[in-house]
Amino acid sequence: MIIQHHLSDETILEYAGGSLSEAWSIAVASHLALCPACRKRLRGMEDAGGALMATIECADTSSDQSWEEMKRRLADAPRVTPEPAASADLEVDTATDGARLPEPLRSYLGGDLDGLKWKSLGGGAYHLPIPTEDRSASARLLRIGPGKAVPEHTHNGRELTLVLKGSYHDGARQYRTGDISEADEDVEHQPIVDMDGECVCLAITDAPLKFRSWVVRLVQPFLGI
Ligand SMILES: [Zn+2]
Repeated sequence: MIIQHHLSDETILEYAGGSLSEAWSIAVASHLALCPACRKRLRGMEDAGGALMATIECADTSSDQSWEEMKRRLADAPRVTPEPAASADLEVDTATDGARLPEPLRSYLGGDLDGLKWKSLGGGAYHLPIPTEDRSASARLLRIGPGKAVPEHTHNGRELTLVLKGSYHDGARQYRTGDISEADEDVEHQPIVDMDGECVCLAITDAPLKFRSWVVRLVQPFLGI
């Protein structure tokens, strides 16, 4: 696996400082599990010590709680072993070209991925929401056929995309297994899956706060508030 697209310094710092919420942390930790180069950068930043960390804006209480939860899940997660996958893991292997899903993603999705319930988005695309306690961001797997555009695309907030299988192009840039893409509302993009096979990605996006408030407005008359 040759990884060409890495985490930004800013995101690694946020992760090291514990100010990333649970959903973002899943993607960052999963890339770190796949990427020795980013692990080295993380260690370098951690070694830089308290002076550096003190410059990071303090996380709010909810993020602290998410971080504690994340650490607890990481501690509980089974260790990844180099042994061949058991038959129950066949779907994992299929979905990642023989590689096992990286921790901590694997512990969120369970050891038996035969039970994964992909939901159709139409047009040969599927998604699988990953249950977290994170209310500020959502995590999901996307599975998209060759030559298809990545659906459910928002330009309204921050976005992290980690490729778990296959590859896609975003303009002139190609993202392959292990690559991570960071985008915000300033980035105009239209990812298209490459023609040589389907693509499975982990996608983290800001929660649709505007939509939620719209729903609240919609039901307000019925609730009498
Ligand atoms: Zn990296």
